Amino acid sequence: MPDGIDAQTGLPDARAFRTAVQAAVDGAGRGGPRPAVMVVDLDRLGPLRLSLGPAAGDELLGAVAGRLAATVRRPDLLARLRPGAFALLLRETPSPREAIRHADEVVDVLRRPLVIGGAVVAPRASAGLAFAGSATDAVGLIGEAELAVARAKVDGGDRWSAFEPALHAVAAARDGLARELDQAIDAGALTLEFQPERRIAGALGQAGTIRSVEALVRWRHPARGLVRPADFLPVAEQTGSIDRIGAWVLREAAAHARSWQLTDPGYARLSVGVNLSAREIGRPGLVAEVVSVLAATGLAPATLTLEVTIAAITHDPRHAVATLAALRATGVRIALDDFAGDANTLGTERRATVDVVKIDPNLVAAVASDRGSERAIRAIVQVARDRGIETVAEGVETREQLAALRELGCDLAQGYLFGKPLGASGISAVLRAERRRGDRVSA
Ligand code: C2E
Ligand code: MG
Ligand code: MG
Repeated sequence: MPDGIDAQTGLPDARAFRTAVQAAVDGAGRGGPRPAVMVVDLDRLGPLRLSLGPAAGDELLGAVAGRLAATVRRPDLLARLRPGAFALLLRETPSPREAIRHADEVVDVLRRPLVIGGAVVAPRASAGLAFAGSATDAVGLIGEAELAVARAKVDGGDRWSAFEPALHAVAAARDGLARELDQAIDAGALTLEFQPERRIAGALGQAGTIRSVEALVRWRHPARGLVRPADFLPVAEQTGSIDRIGAWVLREAAAHARSWQLTDPGYARLSVGVNLSAREIGRPGLVAEVVSVLAATGLAPATLTLEVTIAAITHDPRHAVATLAALRATGVRIALDDFAGDANTLGTERRATVDVVKIDPNLVAAVASDRGSERAIRAIVQVARDRGIETVAEGVETREQLAALRELGCDLAQGYLFGKPLGASGISAVLRAERRRGDRVSA
């Protein structure tokens, strides 16, 4: 294969593309047409290749290259940038409107199903557009298109985005946050809050016994105060820091739960919920890590519940289902978090078996006022009961919601009505106060 050509697709490679872009930028500097660059990056390529197998993965890339080539106009250039990413040099600057139409076409054409190795595959791709102007060389211009494609992915993928200078600031802020977060992990600045899940059987308005507490991570930031997970976990997912965070959360949560179990025989079966993100489910060694934390803390497996969302499972379904099955085999329980889907798919989600379903707070919020939500929850509770799955309503804030959920037969509830998440000492105090009132934890 000649120099500058990608062996797998026969397209120009990244270096050849850079050279071509530089020539186009130089040409524009001499008064020639202004070029633009579009980076096209396949979404979720890793999981797709894993589920297809290596040969079919190559066939897929070939088919994608073919589809992209069909969108290319004559003076333009299509290249392979890296394994799952292609790039287009739009030599004669298209008006932004034309370039956007092209980006639309690219995203759309890659969305159409392909038959690969006998299976129907619907790849998805994100595209990022950058116009020569602020960037004065090829590396800068391609870098701007990369920032734009990263933005399209953060927004959910299967879309295009155009570079704007503000993206530099966003990227810099993200890198800064990632660095700070890594230091915070080392400095012990992460902390856990716990929120009770209560049984909701019993007289209306009477808080039931605490069955479980969910561990929720926070970052004690010197300037920003207590930072919520939504403001740092996405970055931690991107940079991989989530692996260290997750390992810490698991150990810390298990140790606290064990100490509460030991403090009072009434809480011997108190369980603790720990959330797992998509990347954590994919982490090799997760099962061994869970087993070792259980052994180190003395926590009975049945009193640990690992919470996963459907989105985290669908990231790489085959691997996730196998991992969840291996986790269940150790005796820990699996909860499906934020469930708002079709009740009939419950417990068969990509064949993942679960022990608990946590009903999405959006459904719960409307349970007392909207018949559709009420029907959806009724169906979830019924199917769950048939399949031996426990139900937890999340985000319960009002007595009306609680009454409706109790009426529907939901097992447990969690939400501000019963208390906001509290630090370990705060939860210890709540647990003690309950015991003084003579309540018992039911297993
Ligand atoms: P989640 O697992 O669904 O946790 C429930 C979220 O709802 C928590 O938000 C909790 O504070 C909030 N919440 C509880 N009751 C109410 C209520 O009555 N009303 C409203 N509006 N909200 C309520 P938080 O702590 O901000 O966590 C957000 C998400 O971050 C969690 O959703 C979970 O997906 C993720 N997360 C939290 N801690 C961890 C962790 O240690 N590891 C991983 N991987 N993810 C975590
Ligand atoms: Mg959760
Ligand atoms: Mg949830």
